[in-house]
Amino acid sequence: MDFTISAADMAFREEVRSFIEAELPTDIARRGQHDYHSARDDVRRWMQILNRKGWSAPHWPAHLGGTDWSPLRKYIFQDELRRARAPVLDRCALDLLGPVLCAFGSQDQQTRFLPPILNGDVWWAQGFSEPNSGSDLASLRTRAELKGDHYLVNGQKTWTSEAHYADWIFALVRTDPAAKPQAGISFLLIDIRTPGVTVRPIWSIDEGHTLNEVFFEDVVVPAENLVGTAGMGWTYAKFLLTHERTTSAVVSHTKRDVDQVRHLASSLSDGGGKLVDNPAFGAKLARLQADVIALEWAVMRVLHAADDDPSANTVASLLKLRGSELSERAALLAAEALGDYGLCALPDPEGHHILHRDGLAAPLHDDEAIGVTARAMFRRATTIYGGTSEIQRTIIAKSNLGL
Ligand SMILES: Cc1cc2nc3c(=O)[nH]c(=O)nc-3n(C[C@H](O)[C@H](O)[C@H](O)COP(=O)(O)OP(=O)(O)OC[C@H]3O[C@@H](n4cnc5c(N)ncnc54)[C@H](O)[C@@H]3O)c2cc1C
Repeated sequence: MDFTISAADMAFREEVRSFIEAELPTDIARRGQHDYHSARDDVRRWMQILNRKGWSAPHWPAHLGGTDWSPLRKYIFQDELRRARAPVLDRCALDLLGPVLCAFGSQDQQTRFLPPILNGDVWWAQGFSEPNSGSDLASLRTRAELKGDHYLVNGQKTWTSEAHYADWIFALVRTDPAAKPQAGISFLLIDIRTPGVTVRPIWSIDEGHTLNEVFFEDVVVPAENLVGTAGMGWTYAKFLLTHERTTSAVVSHTKRDVDQVRHLASSLSDGGGKLVDNPAFGAKLARLQADVIALEWAVMRVLHAADDDPSANTVASLLKLRGSELSERAALLAAEALGDYGLCALPDPEGHHILHRDGLAAPLHDDEAIGVTARAMFRRATTIYGGTSEIQRTIIAKSNLGL
């Protein structure tokens, strides 16, 4: 397989890089440096800038606001966004719901919901997991009963990222309790401000608020908000979870994190010389970098594979497993490099301000220390969300190894 990047693709990378350098507001770029969860206003401003260029959802079909870029160009685009530390866009809307609506939504739903997503005007949350239904998602119990022209929804979702920012939630609901578990599930769009919806925060170990519980009590949802056919929700959810084969590798994020570890280790001392020259630390950094390069080559293989190559479709779990492990390792190594200094600066939940811890002062500019410890703690979740590592290993055993 030839992975040489063509001159045209190199020129494309330059074009994207120049655009971001010219257009990404400096205050947003500065906050993005900490890799903390972006505030909604930052994401919206940036999405509006991208949307004016027609670049807020490159992976959608061109006639619905996307682009006709090749998979490699979409990857290059994401890589440049991460390199510039641009805010992570509304992933739930752009990467999860958007492709489902493009493929299975009615024309009315596409016209109504897709343009505000592209412009960052309407924010979406993903309501799949429930207190007793995470890995075993098909056991979900949130009930939606059809009552004439509307559904009546009762139940609870949990771990719902950004639901406190969200205007809408796309939820898997049980519409037919008598059917087999997977067959009784439907995909419903719910306005989060409807009476009977309650959003409660879950504070995470990094002192941040991104997670929530969402309760539904006799919530009236117009029947026209059902996506596709009743009982097909499981099929749409599977489509959504495997749609982007390489995104779950988060390789661009991790490459940037490795650069940061190298920078920190070159700035900090280990008591004798520079930390980066400490053989034990240097070996860990080299190993991590080699593993990330190998992951990027694995991603390149997938990007260069033919669309109809069957092996490429089963590779998403492999990339998610490896990518999430490396993402955790990179964040932990950055925290290890900072050592005690990592405790002196944590961002507030919005990532805007610095909370100094008593008695500790870093030999670094705050901008370099801030967010590192919080990120290392939150990254523990990367091997859990989007399907845990144990579940990915089971999929790999069955699909890739035929066990
Ligand atoms: C930061 C974060 C953000 C999230 N955001 C969202 C969101 O926006 N929307 C949403 O719907 N959900 C979200 N989730 C939920 C996430 O999808 C679930 O946490 C995940 O699917 C695991 O489910 P669970 O937490 O119920 O754990 P469980 O399924 O109870 O698993 C507990 C442990 O048992 C293991 N296990 C379970 N079943 C098996 C098995 N069959 N074989 C081997 N091991 C097994 C798991 O690997 C895990 O280690 C988020 C989670 C986190 C941590």
